[in-house]
Amino acid sequence: MTNFSELNLDPKVLQAIEETGYLTPTPIQAQAIPPALLGKDVLGIAQTGTGKTASFTLPMVTLLSKGRARARMPRSLVLAPTRELAAQVAENFDTYSKYTKLTKALLIGGVSFNEQDKLIDRGVDVLIATPGRLLDHFERGKLLLTGVQIMVVDEADRMLDMGFIPDIERIFQLTPFTRQTLFFSATMPPEIERLTNTFLNAPVKIEVARQATTSETISQRLVHFRPSRKDRTASEKRTMLRALIEAEGDAFRNAIIFCNRKVEVDVVAKSLKKYGYNAEPIHGDLDQSHRTRTLDGFRDGSITFLVASDVAARGLDIPNVSHIFNFDVPTHAEDYVHRIGRTGRAGKTGITYMLATPADDKYLAAIEDLVKQPIPRVEAPAGMPENSRKEPSRPEPETEREPTRRRNPRKVRSSSAPAAEAQAAEAPVVAAPVAQAPVAEVNVVAAPAEVAERPERPERRQSRRSSSRTGRGEARDGGRDGGGPVVGMGDHVPDFLLRSFAADPKEV
Ligand code: AMP
Repeated sequence: MTNFSELNLDPKVLQAIEETGYLTPTPIQAQAIPPALLGKDVLGIAQTGTGKTASFTLPMVTLLSKGRARARMPRSLVLAPTRELAAQVAENFDTYSKYTKLTKALLIGGVSFNEQDKLIDRGVDVLIATPGRLLDHFERGKLLLTGVQIMVVDEADRMLDMGFIPDIERIFQLTPFTRQTLFFSATMPPEIERLTNTFLNAPVKIEVARQATTSETISQRLVHFRPSRKDRTASEKRTMLRALIEAEGDAFRNAIIFCNRKVEVDVVAKSLKKYGYNAEPIHGDLDQSHRTRTLDGFRDGSITFLVASDVAARGLDIPNVSHIFNFDVPTHAEDYVHRIGRTGRAGKTGITYMLATPADDKYLAAIEDLVKQPIPRVEAPAGMPENSRKEPSRPEPETEREPTRRRNPRKVRSSSAPAAEAQAAEAPVVAAPVAQAPVAEVNVVAAPAEVAERPERPERRQSRRSSSRTGRGEARDGGRDGGGPVVGMGDHVPDFLLRSFAADPKEV
Protein backbone atom coordinates (compact mmCIF):
# COMPACT_ATOMS: atom_id res chain seq x y z
CA MET A 1 0.00 0.00 0.00
CA THR A 2 1.27 3.49 -0.90
CA ASN A 3 2.15 5.96 1.81
CA PHE A 4 1.63 9.71 1.58
CA SER A 5 5.38 10.13 2.02
CA GLU A 6 6.00 8.21 -1.23
CA LEU A 7 3.92 10.62 -3.29
CA ASN A 8 6.43 13.46 -3.68
CA LEU A 9 4.22 15.95 -1.89
CA ASP A 10 5.69 19.09 -0.34
CA PRO A 11 6.91 18.39 3.25
CA LYS A 12 4.62 21.19 4.48
CA VAL A 13 1.67 19.40 2.91
CA LEU A 14 2.78 16.10 4.46
CA GLN A 15 2.89 17.76 7.86
CA ALA A 16 -0.67 19.04 7.40
CA ILE A 17 -1.85 15.59 6.30
CA GLU A 18 -0.24 14.02 9.34
CA GLU A 19 -2.21 16.37 11.56
CA THR A 20 -5.49 15.33 9.95
CA GLY A 21 -4.73 11.79 11.09
CA TYR A 22 -4.99 10.21 7.63
CA LEU A 23 -2.64 7.29 7.46
CA THR A 24 -2.72 6.20 3.84
CA PRO A 25 -3.97 7.75 0.60
CA THR A 26 -7.33 6.56 -0.67
CA PRO A 27 -7.25 4.81 -4.10
CA ILE A 28 -8.16 8.00 -5.99
CA GLN A 29 -5.45 9.90 -4.13
CA ALA A 30 -2.82 7.22 -4.73
CA GLN A 31 -3.61 7.19 -8.44
CA ALA A 32 -4.31 10.87 -9.14
CA ILE A 33 -1.60 12.61 -7.14
CA PRO A 34 1.50 11.27 -9.02
CA PRO A 35 0.33 12.28 -12.54
CA ALA A 36 -1.05 15.57 -11.22
CA LEU A 37 2.36 16.38 -9.70
CA LEU A 38 3.95 15.65 -13.09
CA GLY A 39 1.71 18.32 -14.63
CA LYS A 40 -0.50 15.89 -16.50
CA ASP A 41 -4.23 16.28 -17.05
CA VAL A 42 -6.30 13.94 -14.89
CA LEU A 43 -9.78 12.62 -15.50
CA GLY A 44 -11.07 11.20 -12.23
CA ILE A 45 -14.27 9.23 -12.29
CA ALA A 46 -15.09 9.25 -8.63
CA GLN A 47 -17.72 10.54 -6.31
CA THR A 48 -17.59 12.27 -2.98
CA GLY A 49 -16.62 10.06 -0.11
CA THR A 50 -13.67 8.62 -2.00
CA GLY A 51 -11.26 11.34 -0.89
CA LYS A 52 -11.28 13.03 -4.30
CA THR A 53 -11.10 16.58 -2.92
CA ALA A 54 -7.70 15.91 -1.39
CA SER A 55 -6.67 14.13 -4.60
CA PHE A 56 -6.59 17.51 -6.32
CA THR A 57 -5.92 19.90 -3.40
CA LEU A 58 -2.77 18.08 -2.21
CA PRO A 59 -0.92 18.23 -5.57
CA MET A 60 -2.20 21.76 -6.17
CA VAL A 61 -0.80 23.06 -2.89
CA THR A 62 2.49 21.31 -3.68
CA LEU A 63 2.71 22.71 -7.22
CA LEU A 64 1.64 26.23 -6.25
CA SER A 65 4.02 26.53 -3.32
CA LYS A 66 6.63 27.50 -5.89
CA GLY A 67 5.86 30.90 -7.40
CA ARG A 68 3.86 33.96 -6.45
CA ALA A 69 0.39 35.29 -7.15
CA ARG A 70 -0.12 38.38 -9.33
CA ALA A 71 -2.83 40.99 -8.94
CA ARG A 72 -6.14 39.98 -10.52
CA MET A 73 -4.55 36.91 -12.09
CA PRO A 74 -5.26 33.81 -10.02
CA ARG A 75 -2.79 31.00 -10.58
CA SER A 76 -5.33 28.25 -10.22
CA LEU A 77 -9.06 27.85 -10.41
CA VAL A 78 -11.42 25.31 -8.86
CA LEU A 79 -15.00 25.20 -10.13
CA ALA A 80 -17.65 23.59 -7.98
CA PRO A 81 -21.38 23.38 -8.74
CA THR A 82 -22.81 24.73 -5.49
CA ARG A 83 -21.83 27.22 -2.82
CA GLU A 84 -21.65 24.54 -0.18
CA LEU A 85 -19.33 22.39 -2.27
CA ALA A 86 -17.14 25.37 -3.10
CA ALA A 87 -16.95 26.22 0.61
CA GLN A 88 -16.05 22.60 1.35
CA VAL A 89 -13.20 22.69 -1.17
CA ALA A 90 -12.03 25.95 0.43
CA GLU A 91 -11.96 24.27 3.83
CA ASN A 92 -9.82 21.48 2.34
CA PHE A 93 -7.37 24.08 1.05
CA ASP A 94 -7.26 25.71 4.47
CA THR A 95 -6.42 22.36 6.03
CA TYR A 96 -3.72 21.26 3.62
CA SER A 97 -2.05 24.63 3.01
CA LYS A 98 -1.85 25.71 6.63
CA TYR A 99 1.98 25.59 6.59
CA THR A 100 2.31 27.44 3.29
CA LYS A 101 1.72 31.07 2.43
CA LEU A 102 -0.76 30.40 -0.32
CA THR A 103 -3.74 32.71 -0.58
CA LYS A 104 -7.21 31.92 -1.80
CA ALA A 105 -10.48 33.60 -2.63
CA LEU A 106 -13.88 32.00 -2.61
CA LEU A 107 -16.29 33.44 -5.19
CA ILE A 108 -19.80 32.38 -4.40
CA GLY A 109 -23.15 34.11 -4.54
CA GLY A 110 -24.34 36.07 -1.55
CA VAL A 111 -20.91 37.43 -0.66
CA SER A 112 -20.38 41.10 -1.49
CA PHE A 113 -18.48 41.69 -4.72
CA ASN A 114 -16.37 44.36 -3.00
CA GLU A 115 -14.83 42.00 -0.47
CA GLN A 116 -14.10 39.44 -3.16
CA ASP A 117 -12.69 42.12 -5.50
CA LYS A 118 -10.27 43.25 -2.80
CA LEU A 119 -8.86 39.74 -2.42
CA ILE A 120 -8.54 39.27 -6.18
CA ASP A 121 -6.90 42.68 -6.58
CA ARG A 122 -4.19 41.67 -4.15
CA GLY A 123 -3.58 38.46 -6.10
CA VAL A 124 -4.59 34.94 -5.10
CA ASP A 125 -3.00 31.58 -5.68
CA VAL A 126 -6.25 29.67 -5.62
CA LEU A 127 -9.64 30.86 -6.77
CA ILE A 128 -12.54 28.62 -5.80
CA ALA A 129 -15.82 29.51 -7.44
CA THR A 130 -19.21 28.52 -8.67
CA PRO A 131 -19.33 29.04 -12.46
CA GLY A 132 -22.01 31.75 -12.46
CA ARG A 133 -20.30 33.92 -9.89
CA LEU A 134 -16.94 33.54 -11.57
CA LEU A 135 -18.36 34.78 -14.88
CA ASP A 136 -20.10 37.67 -13.09
CA HIS A 137 -16.69 38.79 -11.77
CA PHE A 138 -15.10 38.30 -15.15
CA GLU A 139 -17.78 40.32 -16.91
CA ARG A 140 -17.27 43.18 -14.44
CA GLY A 141 -13.69 43.32 -15.69
CA LYS A 142 -12.21 42.55 -12.28
CA LEU A 143 -10.60 39.27 -13.10
CA LEU A 144 -8.22 37.83 -15.65
CA LEU A 145 -8.04 34.10 -16.18
CA THR A 146 -4.98 34.15 -18.41
CA GLY A 147 -2.71 33.33 -15.46
CA VAL A 148 -4.49 30.09 -14.58
CA GLN A 149 -1.97 27.27 -14.60
CA ILE A 150 -4.17 24.62 -13.00
CA MET A 151 -7.90 24.33 -13.45
CA VAL A 152 -10.10 21.89 -11.56
CA VAL A 153 -13.66 20.99 -12.48
CA ASP A 154 -15.29 19.20 -9.57
CA GLU A 155 -18.55 17.24 -9.80
CA ALA A 156 -18.89 17.80 -13.53
CA ASP A 157 -22.00 15.63 -13.90
CA ARG A 158 -23.60 17.75 -11.25
CA MET A 159 -22.72 20.85 -13.29
CA LEU A 160 -24.47 19.22 -16.21
CA ASP A 161 -27.61 18.62 -14.13
CA MET A 162 -27.61 22.26 -13.13
CA GLY A 163 -27.19 23.58 -16.66
CA PHE A 164 -23.64 24.89 -16.12
CA ILE A 165 -21.94 23.21 -19.08
CA PRO A 166 -22.04 26.29 -21.39
CA ASP A 167 -20.49 28.35 -18.55
CA ILE A 168 -17.78 25.73 -18.03
CA GLU A 169 -16.96 25.72 -21.75
CA ARG A 170 -16.68 29.48 -21.71
CA ILE A 171 -14.43 29.44 -18.66
CA PHE A 172 -12.19 26.80 -20.26
CA GLN A 173 -11.83 29.12 -23.26
CA LEU A 174 -10.85 32.06 -21.03
CA THR A 175 -7.95 30.13 -19.49
CA PRO A 176 -4.63 29.46 -21.24
CA PHE A 177 -4.44 26.52 -23.60
CA THR A 178 -1.35 25.34 -21.73
CA ARG A 179 -3.12 24.98 -18.38
CA GLN A 180 -3.22 21.68 -16.52
CA THR A 181 -6.75 20.34 -16.03
CA LEU A 182 -7.94 18.08 -13.24
CA PHE A 183 -11.47 16.98 -13.99
CA PHE A 184 -13.77 14.98 -11.71
CA SER A 185 -17.16 13.46 -12.31
CA ALA A 186 -19.04 10.64 -10.63
CA THR A 187 -20.52 9.50 -13.93
CA MET A 188 -19.64 10.09 -17.58
CA PRO A 189 -22.74 10.99 -19.58
CA PRO A 190 -22.09 11.81 -23.27
CA GLU A 191 -22.08 15.60 -22.71
CA ILE A 192 -19.33 15.25 -20.11
CA GLU A 193 -17.39 12.87 -22.35
CA ARG A 194 -17.55 15.47 -25.13
CA LEU A 195 -16.31 18.19 -22.76
CA THR A 196 -13.34 16.12 -21.64
CA ASN A 197 -12.49 15.19 -25.25
CA THR A 198 -12.48 18.87 -26.16
CA PHE A 199 -10.67 20.43 -23.21
CA LEU A 200 -8.41 17.79 -21.67
CA ASN A 201 -5.05 16.94 -23.13
CA ALA A 202 -4.23 13.21 -23.10
CA PRO A 203 -5.59 12.83 -19.57
CA VAL A 204 -4.62 10.06 -17.21
CA LYS A 205 -7.95 8.39 -16.61
CA ILE A 206 -8.64 7.09 -13.12
CA GLU A 207 -11.81 5.33 -12.20
CA VAL A 208 -12.49 4.35 -8.65
CA ALA A 209 -15.23 1.84 -8.14
CA ARG A 210 -18.66 3.16 -7.41
CA GLN A 211 -19.47 3.02 -3.76
CA ALA A 212 -22.83 1.50 -4.43
CA THR A 213 -21.33 -1.50 -6.12
CA THR A 214 -18.36 -2.07 -3.89
CA SER A 215 -18.71 -0.42 -0.53
CA GLU A 216 -18.79 -3.05 2.11
CA THR A 217 -19.49 -0.37 4.66
CA ILE A 218 -23.00 0.40 3.39
CA SER A 219 -25.87 -1.97 4.10
CA GLN A 220 -28.63 -1.24 1.59
CA ARG A 221 -32.26 -2.18 2.22
CA LEU A 222 -35.46 -1.78 0.28
CA VAL A 223 -38.97 -1.77 1.70
CA HIS A 224 -41.35 -2.40 -1.17
CA PHE A 225 -44.99 -2.02 -0.31
CA ARG A 226 -48.34 -1.44 -1.95
CA PRO A 227 -50.22 1.58 -0.61
CA SER A 228 -53.84 0.99 0.34
CA ARG A 229 -54.87 3.76 -2.04
CA LYS A 230 -52.88 5.82 -4.48
CA ASP A 231 -53.79 9.09 -2.77
CA ARG A 232 -52.53 7.72 0.53
CA THR A 233 -49.09 6.81 -0.75
CA ALA A 234 -47.26 9.79 0.76
CA SER A 235 -48.99 9.56 4.11
CA GLU A 236 -48.36 5.81 4.36
CA LYS A 237 -44.74 6.34 3.41
CA ARG A 238 -44.37 8.82 6.27
CA THR A 239 -45.81 6.27 8.67
CA MET A 240 -43.46 3.62 7.30
CA LEU A 241 -40.53 6.01 7.66
CA ARG A 242 -41.25 6.57 11.34
CA ALA A 243 -41.60 2.85 11.93
CA LEU A 244 -38.26 2.19 10.22
CA ILE A 245 -36.55 4.87 12.32
CA GLU A 246 -37.97 3.40 15.51
CA ALA A 247 -37.02 -0.14 14.50
CA GLU A 248 -33.36 0.78 14.11
CA GLY A 249 -32.79 1.08 17.84
CA ASP A 250 -29.18 1.52 18.93
CA ALA A 251 -27.83 1.33 15.39
CA PHE A 252 -29.33 4.76 14.83
CA ARG A 253 -27.44 7.99 15.36
CA ASN A 254 -28.70 10.41 12.72
CA ALA A 255 -30.12 10.34 9.23
CA ILE A 256 -30.50 12.17 5.98
CA ILE A 257 -33.91 11.62 4.45
CA PHE A 258 -34.03 12.25 0.70
CA CYS A 259 -37.16 13.32 -1.14
CA ASN A 260 -37.48 13.97 -4.85
CA ARG A 261 -39.23 17.32 -4.59
CA LYS A 262 -38.81 20.38 -2.42
CA VAL A 263 -42.50 20.37 -1.49
CA GLU A 264 -42.14 16.81 -0.22
CA VAL A 265 -39.01 17.78 1.73
CA ASP A 266 -41.05 20.38 3.59
CA VAL A 267 -43.99 18.06 4.20
CA VAL A 268 -41.82 15.21 5.51
CA ALA A 269 -39.82 17.52 7.78
CA LYS A 270 -42.99 19.10 9.12
CA SER A 271 -44.58 15.71 9.71
CA LEU A 272 -41.52 14.37 11.55
CA LYS A 273 -41.43 17.47 13.72
CA LYS A 274 -45.10 17.04 14.56
CA TYR A 275 -44.28 13.59 15.80
CA GLY A 276 -41.56 14.98 18.01
CA TYR A 277 -38.57 14.11 15.84
CA ASN A 278 -35.71 16.56 15.69
CA ALA A 279 -35.87 17.20 11.94
CA GLU A 280 -35.12 20.15 9.67
CA PRO A 281 -35.55 20.56 5.92
CA ILE A 282 -32.84 21.65 3.50
CA HIS A 283 -33.47 22.54 -0.13
CA GLY A 284 -32.76 25.25 -2.65
CA ASP A 285 -35.72 27.47 -1.68
CA LEU A 286 -34.29 28.12 1.75
CA ASP A 287 -31.94 31.07 1.98
CA GLN A 288 -28.26 30.38 2.29
CA SER A 289 -27.79 31.43 5.90
CA HIS A 290 -30.65 29.11 6.87
CA ARG A 291 -29.08 26.24 4.90
CA THR A 292 -25.70 26.86 6.51
CA ARG A 293 -27.25 26.92 9.99
CA THR A 294 -29.14 23.71 9.33
CA LEU A 295 -26.05 21.93 8.02
CA ASP A 296 -23.97 23.11 10.96
CA GLY A 297 -26.70 21.85 13.30
CA PHE A 298 -26.69 18.46 11.61
CA ARG A 299 -22.91 18.27 11.72
CA ASP A 300 -22.70 19.17 15.42
CA GLY A 301 -25.52 16.78 16.35
CA SER A 302 -28.08 19.35 17.43
CA ILE A 303 -30.25 18.28 14.47
CA THR A 304 -30.85 14.55 14.12
CA PHE A 305 -32.77 14.32 10.86
CA LEU A 306 -31.90 16.30 7.76
CA VAL A 307 -34.70 16.08 5.21
CA ALA A 308 -33.09 16.99 1.92
CA SER A 309 -33.43 17.40 -1.80
CA ASP A 310 -30.70 16.03 -4.04
CA VAL A 311 -29.47 19.42 -5.11
CA ALA A 312 -29.09 20.69 -1.56
CA ALA A 313 -27.28 17.66 -0.23
CA ARG A 314 -25.33 16.09 -3.04
CA GLY A 315 -21.61 16.15 -2.62
CA LEU A 316 -21.72 17.46 0.91
CA ASP A 317 -19.21 15.90 3.20
CA ILE A 318 -21.04 15.21 6.42
CA PRO A 319 -19.13 12.59 8.34
CA ASN A 320 -20.77 10.17 10.74
CA VAL A 321 -24.18 9.81 9.14
CA SER A 322 -25.53 6.48 10.36
CA HIS A 323 -28.63 6.23 8.15
CA ILE A 324 -29.92 7.33 4.79
CA PHE A 325 -33.61 7.05 4.01
CA ASN A 326 -34.71 7.34 0.42
CA PHE A 327 -38.22 8.50 1.13
CA ASP A 328 -38.70 8.61 -2.63
CA VAL A 329 -37.08 6.40 -5.23
CA PRO A 330 -34.88 8.82 -7.21
CA THR A 331 -35.92 9.24 -10.83
CA HIS A 332 -32.27 9.59 -11.90
CA ALA A 333 -30.49 6.37 -11.02
CA GLU A 334 -27.18 8.15 -10.31
CA ASP A 335 -28.86 10.09 -7.54
CA TYR A 336 -29.27 6.83 -5.64
CA VAL A 337 -25.51 6.36 -5.70
CA HIS A 338 -24.96 9.91 -4.50
CA ARG A 339 -27.58 9.65 -1.80
CA ILE A 340 -26.37 6.44 -0.22
CA GLY A 341 -22.79 7.71 -0.49
CA ARG A 342 -23.62 10.21 2.28
CA THR A 343 -23.15 7.33 4.73
CA GLY A 344 -20.48 4.66 5.10
CA ARG A 345 -17.81 7.32 4.57
CA ALA A 346 -14.13 6.96 5.31
CA GLY A 347 -14.45 3.37 6.46
CA LYS A 348 -17.43 3.90 8.76
CA THR A 349 -20.53 1.74 8.44
CA GLY A 350 -23.90 2.98 7.28
CA ILE A 351 -27.41 1.71 6.70
CA THR A 352 -29.65 2.86 3.87
CA TYR A 353 -33.34 2.30 3.36
CA MET A 354 -35.45 3.04 0.34
CA LEU A 355 -39.24 3.12 0.34
CA ALA A 356 -40.73 1.93 -2.92
CA THR A 357 -44.21 1.25 -4.21
CA PRO A 358 -45.18 -0.47 -7.47
CA ALA A 359 -45.38 2.97 -9.12
CA ASP A 360 -41.60 3.25 -8.62
CA ASP A 361 -40.73 -0.06 -10.27
CA LYS A 362 -39.39 1.52 -13.48
CA TYR A 363 -36.98 3.75 -11.55
CA LEU A 364 -36.05 0.97 -9.18
CA ALA A 365 -35.12 -1.24 -12.13
CA ALA A 366 -32.91 1.55 -13.52
CA ILE A 367 -31.11 1.87 -10.17
CA GLU A 368 -30.53 -1.86 -9.87
CA ASP A 369 -29.28 -1.84 -13.42
CA LEU A 370 -26.82 0.92 -12.63
CA VAL A 371 -25.47 -0.57 -9.41
CA LYS A 372 -25.48 -4.02 -11.02
CA GLN A 373 -27.08 -5.72 -8.06
CA PRO A 374 -30.54 -6.10 -6.59
CA ILE A 375 -31.12 -3.97 -3.51
CA PRO A 376 -31.91 -6.42 -0.70
CA ARG A 377 -35.62 -6.42 0.13
CA VAL A 378 -36.56 -6.29 3.79
CA GLU A 379 -39.87 -6.65 5.53
CA ALA A 380 -41.67 -3.72 7.09
CA PRO A 381 -40.61 -3.19 10.70
CA ALA A 382 -42.03 -5.81 13.01
CA GLY A 383 -43.52 -3.36 15.51
CA MET A 384 -45.65 -1.49 13.06
CA PRO A 385 -48.33 -4.06 12.16
CA GLU A 386 -48.48 -5.25 15.77
CA ASN A 387 -49.19 -1.81 17.18
CA SER A 388 -51.60 -0.97 14.45
CA ARG A 389 -53.64 -4.12 14.86
CA LYS A 390 -54.08 -3.49 18.57
CA GLU A 391 -55.65 -0.09 17.96
CA PRO A 392 -56.90 -0.22 14.42
CA SER A 393 -59.61 2.40 14.62
CA ARG A 394 -58.21 5.21 16.74
CA PRO A 395 -54.82 6.70 17.48
CA GLU A 396 -53.07 5.77 20.70
CA PRO A 397 -53.96 8.15 23.52
CA GLU A 398 -51.34 10.77 24.22
CA THR A 399 -50.78 9.58 27.80
CA GLU A 400 -49.57 6.22 26.55
CA ARG A 401 -47.12 7.72 24.09
CA GLU A 402 -45.62 10.32 26.35
CA PRO A 403 -43.10 8.18 28.29
CA THR A 404 -41.71 6.66 25.08
CA ARG A 405 -41.14 10.13 23.68
CA ARG A 406 -39.24 11.33 26.70
CA ARG A 407 -36.99 8.34 26.61
CA ASN A 408 -36.28 8.65 22.93
CA PRO A 409 -33.28 10.92 22.26
CA ARG A 410 -34.24 11.19 18.59
CA LYS A 411 -37.30 13.15 19.49
CA VAL A 412 -37.65 16.64 20.88
CA ARG A 413 -40.90 17.94 22.23
CA SER A 414 -42.02 21.29 21.06
CA SER A 415 -44.76 23.23 22.79
CA SER A 416 -45.95 24.52 19.45
CA ALA A 417 -46.38 21.01 18.11
CA PRO A 418 -48.46 19.05 20.59
CA ALA A 419 -48.64 15.37 20.01
CA ALA A 420 -52.41 15.50 19.76
CA GLU A 421 -52.08 17.61 16.67
CA ALA A 422 -49.74 15.04 15.25
CA GLN A 423 -52.19 12.30 15.98
CA ALA A 424 -54.89 14.15 14.11
CA ALA A 425 -52.63 14.68 11.14
CA GLU A 426 -51.57 11.11 10.57
CA ALA A 427 -53.05 7.90 11.84
CA PRO A 428 -51.21 4.59 11.97
CA VAL A 429 -50.77 2.49 8.90
CA VAL A 430 -51.32 -1.24 9.16
CA ALA A 431 -49.05 -3.57 7.31
CA ALA A 432 -50.66 -6.84 6.35
CA PRO A 433 -49.05 -9.86 7.96
CA VAL A 434 -45.81 -10.41 6.17
CA ALA A 435 -46.45 -14.08 5.71
CA GLN A 436 -49.35 -13.28 3.40
CA ALA A 437 -47.27 -11.05 1.19
CA PRO A 438 -44.63 -12.09 -1.30
CA VAL A 439 -41.16 -11.99 0.24
CA ALA A 440 -40.19 -8.83 -1.58
CA GLU A 441 -43.42 -7.01 -1.09
CA VAL A 442 -45.21 -5.94 2.06
CA ASN A 443 -48.77 -4.78 1.69
CA VAL A 444 -49.69 -1.74 3.69
CA VAL A 445 -53.25 -0.71 4.21
CA ALA A 446 -54.49 2.36 5.99
CA ALA A 447 -56.35 2.06 9.25
CA PRO A 448 -60.03 2.90 8.88
CA ALA A 449 -59.79 5.99 11.05
CA GLU A 450 -56.99 7.54 9.07
CA VAL A 451 -57.27 11.28 8.65
CA ALA A 452 -55.30 12.41 5.65
CA GLU A 453 -52.58 14.92 6.35
CA ARG A 454 -53.52 18.30 4.99
CA PRO A 455 -51.54 19.26 1.92
CA GLU A 456 -49.59 22.49 2.03
CA ARG A 457 -51.85 25.39 1.12
CA PRO A 458 -51.11 26.84 -2.34
CA GLU A 459 -50.99 30.44 -1.05
CA ARG A 460 -48.27 29.49 1.46
CA ARG A 461 -46.20 27.90 -1.22
CA GLN A 462 -46.71 31.02 -3.27
CA SER A 463 -45.61 33.36 -0.51
CA ARG A 464 -42.39 31.39 -0.03
CA ARG A 465 -41.67 31.65 -3.71
CA SER A 466 -42.48 35.33 -4.03
CA SER A 467 -40.02 36.24 -1.29
CA SER A 468 -37.25 34.56 -3.26
CA ARG A 469 -34.39 36.24 -4.99
CA THR A 470 -33.13 34.29 -7.95
CA GLY A 471 -29.45 33.91 -8.72
CA ARG A 472 -27.90 32.27 -11.76
CA GLY A 473 -26.95 28.93 -10.24
CA GLU A 474 -29.92 28.83 -7.91
CA ALA A 475 -32.40 29.24 -10.73
CA ARG A 476 -31.02 26.13 -12.31
CA ASP A 477 -30.84 24.41 -9.01
CA GLY A 478 -34.52 25.12 -8.60
CA GLY A 479 -35.31 23.89 -12.07
CA ARG A 480 -34.04 20.42 -11.40
CA ASP A 481 -35.07 20.27 -7.82
CA GLY A 482 -38.74 20.83 -8.15
CA GLY A 483 -39.72 24.04 -9.76
CA GLY A 484 -39.77 27.50 -8.28
CA PRO A 485 -37.25 30.26 -8.10
CA VAL A 486 -34.97 30.28 -5.12
CA VAL A 487 -33.58 32.56 -2.49
CA GLY A 488 -30.08 34.03 -2.61
CA MET A 489 -27.63 33.93 0.23
CA GLY A 490 -28.47 37.36 1.61
CA ASP A 491 -25.82 39.47 3.24
CA HIS A 492 -24.85 37.02 5.91
CA VAL A 493 -21.57 35.29 5.22
CA PRO A 494 -20.36 32.60 7.60
CA ASP A 495 -16.90 33.43 8.90
CA PHE A 496 -15.26 30.29 7.59
CA LEU A 497 -16.13 31.28 4.02
CA LEU A 498 -13.94 34.36 4.32
CA ARG A 499 -10.97 32.72 5.98
CA SER A 500 -7.63 32.96 4.23
CA PHE A 501 -4.83 30.46 3.99
CA ALA A 502 -2.17 32.54 5.50
CA ALA A 503 -1.53 31.90 9.17
CA ASP A 504 -0.75 35.58 9.58
CA PRO A 505 -3.55 37.78 8.21
CA LYS A 506 -0.97 40.40 7.18
CA GLU A 507 0.37 37.97 4.63
CA VAL A 508 -2.88 37.89 2.67
P1 AMP B 1 -14.26 13.61 -0.36
O1 AMP B 1 -14.45 12.45 -1.28
O2 AMP B 1 -13.20 14.52 -0.83
O3 AMP B 1 -15.58 14.32 -0.11
O4 AMP B 1 -13.75 13.06 1.06
C1 AMP B 1 -14.51 12.21 1.85
C2 AMP B 1 -14.04 12.14 3.28
O5 AMP B 1 -12.85 11.36 3.37
C3 AMP B 1 -13.69 13.49 3.90
O6 AMP B 1 -14.27 13.55 5.18
C4 AMP B 1 -12.21 13.49 4.01
O7 AMP B 1 -11.79 14.25 5.11
C5 AMP B 1 -11.90 12.02 4.19
N1 AMP B 1 -10.57 11.65 3.67
C6 AMP B 1 -9.91 12.18 2.62
N2 AMP B 1 -8.73 11.57 2.42
C7 AMP B 1 -8.64 10.61 3.36
C8 AMP B 1 -7.63 9.62 3.67
N3 AMP B 1 -6.51 9.50 2.97
N4 AMP B 1 -7.87 8.80 4.70
C9 AMP B 1 -9.02 8.90 5.41
N5 AMP B 1 -10.00 9.80 5.18
C10 AMP B 1 -9.82 10.65 4.15
